[in-house]
Amino acid sequence: MAQISTRLTTLNGPGSDGWNVFYRARRMKADGQNITELTIGEHDIGTHPDILDAMHKSASGGHTGYAIVPGVSDLRDTIAGRVECQTGVPTNRDNVVITPGGQAGLFAAHMAACTPGETALFIDPYYATYPGTLRAVGAVPHAIATDAANAFHPTPEALAKTPDATSLLVNSPNNPTGTVYSKETWEAIADFAQERDLWLISDEVYESQVWAGAHVSPRSLPDMADRTLVVGSMSKGYAMTGSRVGWIVGPKDAIAAIIDLATNTTYGVPGFIQDAATWALQQGPALETEVAAPFARRRDKVLKVISQQKRVTAIPPQGAMYVMLNIRCTGLSGEAFANALLDTHGIAVMPGESFGTAAAGHVRVALTIPDEPLVQAIQTLCTFAEDLSETRA
Ligand code: PLP
Repeated sequence: MAQISTRLTTLNGPGSDGWNVFYRARRMKADGQNITELTIGEHDIGTHPDILDAMHKSASGGHTGYAIVPGVSDLRDTIAGRVECQTGVPTNRDNVVITPGGQAGLFAAHMAACTPGETALFIDPYYATYPGTLRAVGAVPHAIATDAANAFHPTPEALAKTPDATSLLVNSPNNPTGTVYSKETWEAIADFAQERDLWLISDEVYESQVWAGAHVSPRSLPDMADRTLVVGSMSKGYAMTGSRVGWIVGPKDAIAAIIDLATNTTYGVPGFIQDAATWALQQGPALETEVAAPFARRRDKVLKVISQQKRVTAIPPQGAMYVMLNIRCTGLSGEAFANALLDTHGIAVMPGESFGTAAAGHVRVALTIPDEPLVQAIQTLCTFAEDLSETRA
């Protein structure tokens, strides 16, 4: 009997499936139940009509054949210009490859960095696919735990305790915590990457959604451009999740190697999607600001509800489209609380445990429904947590 490779049968690793609440909520909804979904990072708006017009014009103008594998020159140039402007590091199209979304970018960046069997470091809490992506390239994932008390920033001490490795994957603004790394944290990460001679893979898909502090790309830090692979995407910043278009920016030799990988795997990204992305990126910040605005507004509203009671606490997110709530007052794990909230009130949130061990006892709320039902759902969640805490006391 032909067997499925161990690379795929072991992709998800050991432990419970953190997506259980999400799938259960989807099934309940399909069965006709009224479910408030605050789970995944999908906008409640579609792609802007003007971006769709640009896509349509390109496709009806004939850009429907194979696009060149590294990505169309206009898009690579536009991204190079944007990154050079953000980082001050000279960047041109040879530093850029277009990928089918940030997820494919994370995979390709690790394919460039890690030889099978080598250790790939990443920070816990983390975006749920990270360990599987690292296993998919044959690397051995190693999580570096952070602490809510330190706003989930990695500390120099935690970095120092890690085993020998080849790469470190970081994500700021962070999913799930909303943490935006400070200058000190970036300096500690850069020192560590240089001391250990690591590739730094920087997932910056939320770069346009910063509510406090400022986004720093480690490509801008002294002596880091030659060891940093920046992963970007149109998904979050432009509500283009379904278009599957992103990029990697890095040293030319690594980008050339990733283009070889693309030739043998994805064979590029549809030209009309790339033309629409080019058009959107060339409009200046207005479109990104429009997409980001509801998340900033909803974040403030959620924090206001949290401030009006004493049981559930939040570390105010500095960026991205989520709020992490600490529900330890209930005595339940994030997973048990999320399941109980779904069963009792039809509200679906992601257990903190879906994102590693450091966020246990938390739930992640996606700010992806209109303001009024969101505020109502958070009020219900807080009252539910309060009732559970009182029953426990
Ligand atoms: N990185 C992070 C931190 C994410 O949250 C996501 C999606 O939720 C991705 C990468 C992948 O995004 P995409 O492949 O849509 O660009």
